[in-house]
Amino acid sequence: MKITRTVLASLAVLGAMLPLGNGSAQEPHRAITEIAENLYRAENAGHRAVFLVTDEGVILADTINRGFSEWLKNEIDQRFGVPVRYVLYSHHHWDHASGGGVFDDTATFIAQENMLRHLELPSANTPLSGAAAEQDANGDGRLQESEASGMFAQFFSLFDENADGSLSGAEVAWGRLADVRAPDLVFKDRMTVTLGGSEAEIIHVGQMTHTLDMSVIHFPEQRAVFAVDFFSVGRLPFRTLNQGPLNEWLNAIRAVEMLDVDVVVTGHGFVGDLSDVAAHRRYIEELRDLVAAGIERGATVEELQAEILMEPYQDWLNYSDFRAQNVEGMYRILTEQQ
Ligand SMILES: [Zn+2]
Repeated sequence: MKITRTVLASLAVLGAMLPLGNGSAQEPHRAITEIAENLYRAENAGHRAVFLVTDEGVILADTINRGFSEWLKNEIDQRFGVPVRYVLYSHHHWDHASGGGVFDDTATFIAQENMLRHLELPSANTPLSGAAAEQDANGDGRLQESEASGMFAQFFSLFDENADGSLSGAEVAWGRLADVRAPDLVFKDRMTVTLGGSEAEIIHVGQMTHTLDMSVIHFPEQRAVFAVDFFSVGRLPFRTLNQGPLNEWLNAIRAVEMLDVDVVVTGHGFVGDLSDVAAHRRYIEELRDLVAAGIERGATVEELQAEILMEPYQDWLNYSDFRAQNVEGMYRILTEQQ
């Protein structure tokens, strides 16, 4: 590799501090709310982390990004006067797992073992995603320098690892992960962390849901669980349902439903309870059954998008943005995954 991850990480930090493209340099909305005894949710715009405070320090689930982590470190220090002792990762995705290096001096980092694979080996066929995909004006699946804007334009040559003048999905993915602090300890199925007489349990929900390393963080005394990206509370699933095989995905959600908890905190959106988790699973199952019946009688995706309205869920967030994409995603799952 012609550059080190550390170099790219420090540039990613610089990039995060500069106004990018037409975005503003404003700080995102941030807040801390107690959701159960000694358990807090911390918000950074649309993203959520949770942390448990004990006399001996804090167990933090997800670091989101460097700006958030720096802010949170300061807040925890001022409010509670104890350091972050453990960072538990829900999964490796850069928008939930960046910036943890801020806690390097006091914390041990823990993740499911597959996180190491995700951090080291972006697959050569990784497609362009997110902002990079949106900037791909000629639609060739690569980002040429002339197309790039924002962070990709500013640091193009750093992302362009093989210096061929265009960025592959793998190069974009690797560059995005540059500021993700790798775990010190990994586990296979589950691991319990004990601190100051309290416990947090991190549980892998399956190899094939959302990412290979997807895990939930369970706080047994607080009767709470933190879960990210594979379901949400009062909100439609994201776009075209790229969560992995349908049964694996549903089983991961059912695994959460089997926990003995009262409080469910997700990585985006609202705090809820197990009835919200069940409602999200039922949404997916009802969508599956309606789309399957449509496929059975030979309906097209467009016809199903027009007729499957999922009315009982019209009050959920993102209903108007994602309903039609959810139908399309389910159509694809049922015709391609079988
Ligand atoms: Zn994710």
